[in-house]
Amino acid sequence: MNRVMTEQELLACFDDAVKFGHIFVTYQPKINHSTGRMIGAEALMRWTHPVYGMQYPSDFIPVLEKNDLIYKADLAVFEAVCRFLRKCLDNGETPVPVSVNMSRYDIYRKDYVEQIENLRKSYDIPVKYLHVEITESSAIGGMELVSDVLRQLHEYGYVVEMDDFGSGYSSLNVLKDLAVDVIKLDMRFLSGEIGGRGGTIISAIVRMAKWLGTPVIAEGVETMEQADYMKSIGCKYVQGYLYSKPVAEDEFREKMGQLEHEPLTPAMDLINSMEAGRFWDPRSMETIIFNNFVGGAVIFTYHNGDAEILKVNKKYIKEIGMNMMEQEILDADPWASLDEKNREIYEQTLLRAIRSKDEESCETWRNICSKTCGEDRICVRSFIRMIGRTEEHYLFYAMVQNVTAEKKRYNELYDSERRFRFASEHANVYAWEVDVSTREMRPCFRCMRDLNVPPLVHNYPEPLIETGVFPPDYADMYREVMDKLLSGKIDSFEHIIPLTVGRVPFHVRYTLERDEAGKPLKAYGSATLVVDDEEKGE
Ligand code: C2E
Ligand code: CA
Ligand code: CA
Repeated sequence: MNRVMTEQELLACFDDAVKFGHIFVTYQPKINHSTGRMIGAEALMRWTHPVYGMQYPSDFIPVLEKNDLIYKADLAVFEAVCRFLRKCLDNGETPVPVSVNMSRYDIYRKDYVEQIENLRKSYDIPVKYLHVEITESSAIGGMELVSDVLRQLHEYGYVVEMDDFGSGYSSLNVLKDLAVDVIKLDMRFLSGEIGGRGGTIISAIVRMAKWLGTPVIAEGVETMEQADYMKSIGCKYVQGYLYSKPVAEDEFREKMGQLEHEPLTPAMDLINSMEAGRFWDPRSMETIIFNNFVGGAVIFTYHNGDAEILKVNKKYIKEIGMNMMEQEILDADPWASLDEKNREIYEQTLLRAIRSKDEESCETWRNICSKTCGEDRICVRSFIRMIGRTEEHYLFYAMVQNVTAEKKRYNELYDSERRFRFASEHANVYAWEVDVSTREMRPCFRCMRDLNVPPLVHNYPEPLIETGVFPPDYADMYREVMDKLLSGKIDSFEHIIPLTVGRVPFHVRYTLERDEAGKPLKAYGSATLVVDDEEKGE
């Protein structure tokens, strides 16, 4: 006869159930969905009553918790798992790590961690084979208690998994304050279509966990579609009916022997020593530095050509110069603002940064669109550094500068210079300037090109006399007018001088520029080719 037992019945036979093994353990494998290998298992409690048959945790665990008996059941489970692991080890089989559930009521018991540790020692099980699952809701009783237990477990070397993440007890806060090693995300808490709101929450959690360097296990995975979706957002570890229901010890042992094993690895290896957890804490030094002591900065992931922004600081928003909300930036597709050419430039820089493991920079033009400001085209200079990576995901930190104004000024300058070039080309003008105080001469590009004048001439005009640009018979005359001009005795000068070795006649003109006090500053010279009639006319 199979029926759910009443509270009285459960309590009446609880001690016997522990003593005679009516309370026992089933095992559910945890699998890497990318490789099909086993990464661990969870121990789940079952109770078979000799008369009433199989009882499920949802029926008897609340009763045990309410009556302060759950710790006895949990210790019995822990011991059964130790016994199982011992059997495997003695038999030369390598087990996977088995995680054992810890009720939130166990947390209130001062010596609970001590007790499991004693059991582990008495069975001589290496601590790497035992994980502890604590539920997110344990934090309801107060953060301090859970933090203490966590610290104790870590001191003994247990890997701690946070169970039922996403069940709603201010999840993100818990995550930031509790240094758990693994996050278990229950698909059933986030039901609804995969692409919808549930999916958005899941991917945000996976993304954040990745940045924390914490592996995520999706539990309650029943379909291939769910497992593939989780894999696509960067969570490859799954537990659920898709791979196996919780099974009895012998059956599990067989599965464990059949499948290859692999260790659970962190989602992201942070390359520098920055402590990622503190990065999400608004009060941490890291956040204060990120927000106040560096310029515009952004953290993003890059995976198979997809980029996703995880975090921007306040100065980033200011630098972009648009009135945007942080959320607006996080939600947008970072590539949407770049055209094909600029995206190519940016992605090439990412690849360089991956290869060099050093800072790489680039400039890209972007079309930024904000709700309040509409569209604008800006040029962003980025200094990019890879700060973390997995097999195929990369984490980048980029400092940004909005260099639009600089670029525009440069373009204007370039434009005016280009206009001048065209104009001088048409007018056949050679132009240069001579600095009065330094006697340095700077020629225009045409002088450089046609007359072979270097870009900067010291002690003007001597070098040009030496090289024969000025013919020797004109040298003394030229020196004399230059002296007069540069000392301010005359303000202008005009003469026809045959220039270059070809002795081509040029109309050479000078004007002097003075400062407000009348002191000579610069002499501007020009030379135009003398056309035939002009030569005759002179
Ligand atoms: P839990 O720790 O979240 O365990 C996962 C539950 O999900 C298990 O239910 C498991 O059988 C079930 N499950 C696994 N894959 C799937 C799936 O694909 N679909 C669906 N619908 N369910 C799936 P179970 O064994 O009934 O345990 C229920 C809860 O009871 C556990 O939730 C845990 O909170 C508690 N529990 C189980 N064993 C222990 C224990 O030894 N100690 C304590 N304190 N609590 C335990
Ligand atoms: Ca669990
Ligand atoms: Ca769970």
